Amino acid sequence: MKIAIRREPIEGERRVAATPAAVAQYVAAGYAVTVQKGAGVAAGYPDSAYAEAGAELAASIPLSKVDVLAHVRPLDRETIAKLPKGAITVGFASPASELDAVKALADRGVTAFSLELIPRISRAQSMDALTSQALVAGYRCVLEASMRFPRFLPLFMTAAGTIPPARVLVLGAGVAGLQAIATAKRLGAKVSAYDVRSASADEVQSMGGTFIHLDLDAAADAAGGYAKELAADRADRQRELLAPYVADADIIITTAAIPGRPAPRLVTASMVKGMAAGSIIVDLAAETGGNVEGATPGEDVQVPVDGGHVTIVGMKDAASTMPYDASRLLGQNIANLVALMTRDGALVPDFDDEVVAGACLTHEGAVRHEPTAAALA
Ligand code: NAD
Repeated sequence: MKIAIRREPIEGERRVAATPAAVAQYVAAGYAVTVQKGAGVAAGYPDSAYAEAGAELAASIPLSKVDVLAHVRPLDRETIAKLPKGAITVGFASPASELDAVKALADRGVTAFSLELIPRISRAQSMDALTSQALVAGYRCVLEASMRFPRFLPLFMTAAGTIPPARVLVLGAGVAGLQAIATAKRLGAKVSAYDVRSASADEVQSMGGTFIHLDLDAAADAAGGYAKELAADRADRQRELLAPYVADADIIITTAAIPGRPAPRLVTASMVKGMAAGSIIVDLAAETGGNVEGATPGEDVQVPVDGGHVTIVGMKDAASTMPYDASRLLGQNIANLVALMTRDGALVPDFDDEVVAGACLTHEGAVRHEPTAAALA
């Protein structure tokens, strides 16, 4: 069977769906691997390394002949139209926002596996690309903040005086938020964090952060360990209760998300105005609507305040900013999913397997993921 690895066509996307190490695994499993020339260059993996791993390099991927296509970003309709009926795709498909592409995959008879749909269960952890990429993003957010912050993060006691540690506030303590807490702690900051999920307090504390309890009646837990959207009055109350913590922070990292929904608004423009000059906010959710009012993906927005300004950094393509390690983790996640479905050198999905069935977005002309099928109906 032939597996193809393409050069990601979207500008700003520097990751690749397989590193040379992943290619070596595919070859050992009996696949013939074609890698588009230059596919790994932006991530730091040269063509020669793919060739050494056993891949054939091609100027363009012969899409009409691939059995399996591994990709990072959702496929566009033009690419889908060239795939043969029965082809298998594995990558991020953004089913909540790319409905046209999902329909095209189903209409084309493609069996598409969406990394967003991999069940968050222990057995699937090695395939969980949301987790691996969130880890990269959470780490990077803190570095972005620290590079713009005009002060130290750690406490310094010097002969010239004592410099207090920076106060970092993390809002949303999922995988990215927890990694942000850990990274800010390593840099010596004083870290506090807040999340609506009930399990979150222990998770924050285990990372060395101080958990902020808000008097919001009850936690907002939904199925699968995710949070659910707050009703408008509770969201208002949440912002009101968060305001003093926001005003007191030097750096804020926001990572709050609800699967398939726009990002919850946690920080309003007036809350930003209440921060001290020189403070930095990094909004990891800028691309999905923004946790922070005024955040613009890919841009630094400077909000005038007394004595200077507060900078809101709208993160864009966060995992892609560290493409070498992000691709290493993502490529391994994809390779592990492919390995789970491989029998005698061929990819044969077993839909009785909960991970395989859960990750499958389209198969034999149907959209198998029920919420996406309902959104298309
Ligand atoms: P996510 O990226 O979907 O969301 C980030 C965080 O935002 C979540 O912690 C969520 O509770 C929080 N959030 C949402 N609305 C909020 C609001 N109004 N205010 C404050 N915070 C808000 O989350 P994620 O990183 O994908 O993690 C989601 C869950 O999945 C967690 O319980 C995590 O522990 C779990 N998980 C399990 C596995 C596994 O078992 N394999 C792997 C990864 C994550």
